[in-house]
Amino acid sequence: MPFYSRRVETFGTTIFTEINGLAQQYNALNLGQGRPDFDTPPAIVEQVNAALHDGQHNQYAPGPGTAELRHAVAEHARRFYGLDIDPLQGVVVTSGATEGLLACILGLVDPGDEVIVIEPFYDCYVPDIIMAGATPVFVPLHPPTWTFDEAELRAAFTARTRAIIINTPHNPTGRVFTREELTLISELCIEYDVTVILDEVYEHLTLKDAHYLHIATLPGMFKRTVAVSSSGKSFSATGWKIGWVYGHPDVLDGVARAHQFITFAVHHPTQQGIAYALNMPDSYYQQFRAMYEAKVQLLMRALAGSGLKYSEPQGTYFILTDFSRVFQGMPMEFARFLIQQIGVACIPLETMYSAEHIHIGKDYVRFSFCKTDEALLAAQEPLAKLAQHVRA
Ligand code: PMP
Ligand code: GLN
Repeated sequence: MPFYSRRVETFGTTIFTEINGLAQQYNALNLGQGRPDFDTPPAIVEQVNAALHDGQHNQYAPGPGTAELRHAVAEHARRFYGLDIDPLQGVVVTSGATEGLLACILGLVDPGDEVIVIEPFYDCYVPDIIMAGATPVFVPLHPPTWTFDEAELRAAFTARTRAIIINTPHNPTGRVFTREELTLISELCIEYDVTVILDEVYEHLTLKDAHYLHIATLPGMFKRTVAVSSSGKSFSATGWKIGWVYGHPDVLDGVARAHQFITFAVHHPTQQGIAYALNMPDSYYQQFRAMYEAKVQLLMRALAGSGLKYSEPQGTYFILTDFSRVFQGMPMEFARFLIQQIGVACIPLETMYSAEHIHIGKDYVRFSFCKTDEALLAAQEPLAKLAQHVRA
């Protein structure tokens, strides 16, 4: 008998930990994990530093988050989405979006319920659903456009559906869902009385003319949407693990109840830094986007000479590529080959699919461009070696 519970028996090592280990072992250029290899803006770090030394922030923070951060989250939702969020009853600060998602699922979903998950999916969704004793129901996005099929989406909604997890801009495809797609989802949610758990951690990472539409702004959706975001992406501070959940107080109540007994409260001084960051002027967010507009071009330039097929992402800091012209095998085998033979690390898609749909993602791996320009330029030479493997 193993010591571990049945609840965790299907949980392997996360793909990010596995790929980081291999990249280190083979000294490969790591374009895998969405982990910036540059620092957090100094002005934000300075706020945390000040909070560490002012004698007011080294003991427990209030459980739902500091008043400053909750007000900043509410104000940010008003500024960017026109949403009216109550900072006291409508916001909970969590340990990253990762805890926020778990608190949503534990607080809003009962054992035996079904939760719709769009594939490919971020890796914690399914373990969270399993830990809640619920059942994931999968709806795949289809290449090359990475849209869902309307009939498949409709068929996933049943009387047992309690929630649907929507991630837009979407990791790993780089899609930003359209008004038509989100309208269809919202109509089904209203018809079946389903809650949306919106993972919007890439909310500020739209590229070119892509527009991020917040599903809570669609008719009838405010009262049935909990939004989950995080400081990791928008402020290049993945190590701080400050996230938040916000929405109408009625739908947030369950999330707040669960959060109390997961972490109670999260790291206090960094909350002050993120409150400051969220209130930064629009120019910060414009420059942030411009930085990634330039970085995506650098990664595309490196991929252009590689024989990998890709299309320009609409959002996130990821590019999904089809490796079928240069390699025969599954994504994990290709990722190992790329690390060991080419010297570049990427994320294979196996862990982002159910067994029933992995065939859809069997030719794809993900590269990230939240890396210094030097690292992205350095990727050109090794990736060009891949082109020698293109099959006629
Ligand atoms: N959701 C998605 C789609 C992600 O890519 C990530 C990775 N940052 C998370 C959630 C987790 O965010 P955090 O690091 O704030 O826990
Ligand atoms: N969100 C990051 C990604 O998709 C990774 C976070 C993690 O390592 N758990 O790359």
